[in-house]
Amino acid sequence: MKLYNTLTRNFTNYGQTKKVNIYGCGPTVYNYIHIGNARAIITVDLLVSFLQFQQIEVNYIQNYTDIDNKIINKATAEEKTEQQIAEFYIKAFEEDVFNLNVRTPTKRVRVTEHIKDIITFVQKLVKIDATYEVNGSVYFNITNYQTEYGKLANKKLAELAVNARIDHDANKHSQYDFALWKQTTEGISFPFYDQKSKLYQGRPGWHTECVVLIDKFFHKETIDIHAGGIDLVFPHHENERIQFLAKNKSEIAKIWMHNGHLNVADEKMSKSLNNTILVRNFIKLYGANTLRYLLYTTNYTQPLNVTESLISSAQGETGKIFKVLKAMNLYLAEYDLNYNLIKHGENIKKVLAELGNNLNSPNVLTIISKMIKIINGQLRDKKLDLQLASDFYNIIFNIINFNFNLPVISGEIRRYLLEWIKSKNNKDFVKADELRKILLKKDIL
Ligand SMILES: [Zn+2]
Repeated sequence: MKLYNTLTRNFTNYGQTKKVNIYGCGPTVYNYIHIGNARAIITVDLLVSFLQFQQIEVNYIQNYTDIDNKIINKATAEEKTEQQIAEFYIKAFEEDVFNLNVRTPTKRVRVTEHIKDIITFVQKLVKIDATYEVNGSVYFNITNYQTEYGKLANKKLAELAVNARIDHDANKHSQYDFALWKQTTEGISFPFYDQKSKLYQGRPGWHTECVVLIDKFFHKETIDIHAGGIDLVFPHHENERIQFLAKNKSEIAKIWMHNGHLNVADEKMSKSLNNTILVRNFIKLYGANTLRYLLYTTNYTQPLNVTESLISSAQGETGKIFKVLKAMNLYLAEYDLNYNLIKHGENIKKVLAELGNNLNSPNVLTIISKMIKIINGQLRDKKLDLQLASDFYNIIFNIINFNFNLPVISGEIRRYLLEWIKSKNNKDFVKADELRKILLKKDIL
């Protein structure tokens, strides 16, 4: 398969492989997630289910940033502890991704449970002289890494500062340097001693948290794919990369996979514009499948503009998928058939080829619409091709991970169904109508 790689600004092929190591930057847990966050999560979820469908083992780690200024501020405002805030929003996050039918990663890791590893990592960087200390904070010193720094963002050092989310901190020697360890006694803080047993009371910098988790959980190896939103490229990912490079003399990731921005009606979602769409509210209004469909309409690398009309068209299309799944279900019950999900036909091959091409989800949706047309025709003619139907089922549920709640056709319901079909054929419309009402009531039709 090939994926667009931000580092090389080209596609990176990686051929037949048995196992893929993936890291995705997770949420800072001080708020509910919005549909922009969902884009990053569902992009990786699509990749994971595509790989797993091909029996490729996926080792996917995602972090929770459960220590951050934003969490401290929220805790202060709500007169709670940071742990309470983090706990609450981790639970909310897990509910949301469960409702989005996101496959659970191999591990979801909380930063606060790995402070010791972070300290050891910072100590190592101190030891190799990649850092300097000012007023109890430890900073990464970019000076010795100027040839590498900026490669991910594809910018020269002088161009980097423009518009970037760089911390303005008077302690720093250069604006490009960043804190590995921040001196603070506000909120949760931890003791950290340097080689001379000098105490630093503080907490880790965000960029250091992710790189340490990768270093730890993938055993210092270069991972296959590092995923995240495009807004994380600089400085967050650039800083992760440079720390790993400094410590291990190797790349942190072979492929940097970034999803594009998501706007709502041509505007960036923001508090001030009051246009943020939370995942839980979206699901309540339009359903989780609609969100997935909507995200698949555009390749993940491209910006996506969410509009009323896009939502309603996505809702219409998911309705069509559900309808055809239900109709196939009835057909299978009527003829006492079962899907063959082990054998894969032409359409599955086509879908896998599209996804193997940098997750070309829009083309997958085109294949799905074509299949729906053919299947509907076959259902009308009572000549459903079981391989086509099985492929459709497999694609929807097992490759692109929709979650449609199909009614279960029990033995009793099947008897009603067969009787209904029989009375229609015998033109016994009164009886047919009665049975139809029963089947409708049981949500079978
Ligand atoms: Zn990260």
